[in-house]
Amino acid sequence: MIRAYKFLMRPTVGQAAALGEMLRDHCSLYNGALRERRDAYRHASKTSITYGIQSAQLKEIRSFDPERQGRWSFSSQQATLRRLDKAFQAFFRRVKAGEAPGYPRFRGVMWFDTVDFPRDGDGCRWDSTPHDPVTRVRLQGVGHVKVHQHRPVVGKVRTVSVKREGRRWYVILTAQQAQPEPLPATGGVVGIDLGIANFLADSGGGFVPNPRHGRRAAAKLGAAQQALARFPRVRRDKRTRNHRRAVQKVADLHRKVRRQRLDHAHKTALDLVRQHDVIAHENLKIRNMVKAPAPKPDPGRSGSFLSNGAAAKAGLNHSISDAGWGVFLTILHVKAESAGREVIAVDPRNTSRTCPACGHVAKENRPTQEKFHCVSCGHTAHADTVGALNVLRAGLVHRNARQG
Ligand SMILES: [Zn+2]
Repeated sequence: MIRAYKFLMRPTVGQAAALGEMLRDHCSLYNGALRERRDAYRHASKTSITYGIQSAQLKEIRSFDPERQGRWSFSSQQATLRRLDKAFQAFFRRVKAGEAPGYPRFRGVMWFDTVDFPRDGDGCRWDSTPHDPVTRVRLQGVGHVKVHQHRPVVGKVRTVSVKREGRRWYVILTAQQAQPEPLPATGGVVGIDLGIANFLADSGGGFVPNPRHGRRAAAKLGAAQQALARFPRVRRDKRTRNHRRAVQKVADLHRKVRRQRLDHAHKTALDLVRQHDVIAHENLKIRNMVKAPAPKPDPGRSGSFLSNGAAAKAGLNHSISDAGWGVFLTILHVKAESAGREVIAVDPRNTSRTCPACGHVAKENRPTQEKFHCVSCGHTAHADTVGALNVLRAGLVHRNARQG
């Protein structure tokens, strides 16, 4: 199974200029190759020029023009020639079919927006600085470009493409993932409630605790970040030895936290997918909108807000676990898809205050963070289990509505 990912790149000014030149040079290669084919086609002999012939000329073109064409990846240039070849094959196919297709056209530089790298590691390298929490992609002739990687990449990266859209630059990956092997049906359905005290609670009354080592690593990371913050902000090459060591420590701990979080997410998701045909979870986007901590207005000045240490800390904890939930849900969806399982995201509103026994909805049903006690029928349970049950119920309603 091939999966595609698209991430925003954050090139420096110099890198953006180099990316522009890379597109421009690939565009002129495309147009030059098109001209050669057109001239040959118009010649009385109706010679047709193949991809093989044009690809064989690349070496010469590069050594003849080292300042421009010679800078870029050989393989990405081949990919550009192959793209032209595809356009010609489509053209000839339609001619043969008796249609009147348009001859492949020259591309203006603004209409040429993509450079393909057919293989990761050849003229490009995804995640070229794995020791750094910031993801980068290395592109030949451009350098290590920062990438805003908003979700994890699952599987082995095969191809890398660079695309310009307006003034933004994107990197597009395709990754090879394990072949989907539908698991046998279990008849099991489950709802899950993602939390802070426990990583998740399920509708069957089970809990998956937060990994202990995760909290320990997070504390260490906090301390390392504080230590790093004591150094003055100076250029990379002007840092002292201790400063460099502090930077390295933060990077190492980041990587460690990220790996532990991934391991834990994989294991938890795998357990769920093995045991259930249908898994319902809260839609985190809606949940964040609903549960965002309210800012405290400053009574002295209207329109301004007090900074509240506790609220800020809660917000931080929340954002850390939020990142973990996001990773987990992505992995859960991918694993479920491979196994032929169904995952449903439901609106989380009222899932924590609805009584699963009688359906009574009230804030008072949840006297503490952990306890659920229905004020109408007296039903008691762990609040997170109740949340998970309501998520499951909402998911099944959603599913029946879709199927019926
Ligand atoms: Zn009740």
